[in-house]
Amino acid sequence: MAYLTFKDINKIYPNGFHAVHNFNLEVEKGEFIVFVGPSGCGKSTTLRMVAGLENISSGEFLIEGTRVNEKGPRERGIAMVFQSYALYPHMSVYDNLAFGLTLQGVDEDVIEQKVMKTAKILGLTEYLDRKPRALSGGQRQRVAVGRAIIRKVGVFLMDEPLSNLDAKQRVTMRSEITQIHRETGATTIYVTHDQTEAMTMADRIVVMKEGYVQQVGTPYDLYFNPVNVFVAGFIGEPPMNFVKGTVTNGSLKIGKTDVALSSVVSEKTAAAYEGKEVCFGFRPEHAVLVKDKAVPDAIEFSCVVELTELLGDNTNVYIDIDGINLILKIDPHDTPKIDSELKFAVPKGSVYLFDGETEARILQ
Ligand code: ATP
Repeated sequence: MAYLTFKDINKIYPNGFHAVHNFNLEVEKGEFIVFVGPSGCGKSTTLRMVAGLENISSGEFLIEGTRVNEKGPRERGIAMVFQSYALYPHMSVYDNLAFGLTLQGVDEDVIEQKVMKTAKILGLTEYLDRKPRALSGGQRQRVAVGRAIIRKVGVFLMDEPLSNLDAKQRVTMRSEITQIHRETGATTIYVTHDQTEAMTMADRIVVMKEGYVQQVGTPYDLYFNPVNVFVAGFIGEPPMNFVKGTVTNGSLKIGKTDVALSSVVSEKTAAAYEGKEVCFGFRPEHAVLVKDKAVPDAIEFSCVVELTELLGDNTNVYIDIDGINLILKIDPHDTPKIDSELKFAVPKGSVYLFDGETEARILQ
């Protein structure tokens, strides 16, 4: 039996807005699940339904096989970290950490032991006497996480917990949260709109768009086997390149290159798409520059370089193929000159083909 079960969950707000459609998911004990998607896709709404802060319009949410739809937040054994931290400004870090346990009537000695242990895990020991206003954003964030992990709960929920931090602090806290998860082993659901956070932290990612789950999978699955254009474009940085076009005489014309569909999918599938629209996709990092000799088993393109961005470990090259704008991610030592002509190839195994109408991935 799964630890958490979402069964056909829907959320319709009182104003009639259908924010979450038929959400289904099974979460194993100890998993770190990330809900990711653009603003408004319904990830916070879903998380709030798990927390019991928002009622479930239809469907069931089960914890260890027991329906908890009707249970309040406190009865669910869940702790939540909010975007805003929600620390008590007039209380010291110690009291902020201790607060939940004090309310529960836990013994002072036990509270002290737990506060000291949590502070140690989070590197807050020397700040226990300070008030939140005398802490940095990252330290406040740690107190907020500490307040949640100090209680022994089955499920740990986080809603964009790193959004108030600067880029560097985010990277540090990302690995700290992963570390805390490893230490506590608590089943975690983490909400973010940042695909990098999702990719680096999750055991499994749930990609959402406009209230619908698009795909559930490991970071590896989502990167290498996206089910549709949306997931393919959302996961990966810079995003996947897409070129739409109609299949004519078995090929899709991209600039001077005729991409024979049968070279990336079966003859049968290629024939079925004759006269129809498809979307050709490849990741910027999968492009290979053609230098002296042709790249084997790849499709070659010619382009003009419009702009380059040297990032240190790689260069992003913004290119134009007869009016189509794409990005290549290449070795910085190969950074080309602006306005120069460039030849690159995409290995056939790195090509993604999508149905132009449904945007679903075409396999085989
Ligand atoms: P963000 O990253 O911006 O927080 P999100 O993916 O978490 O976005 P939700 O907050 O879950 O999105 O909102 C999903 C949709 O439901 C949005 O279109 C939002 O406007 C709508 N919504 C949220 N709360 C309510 C409400 N109380 N009444 C009506 N509609 C709401």
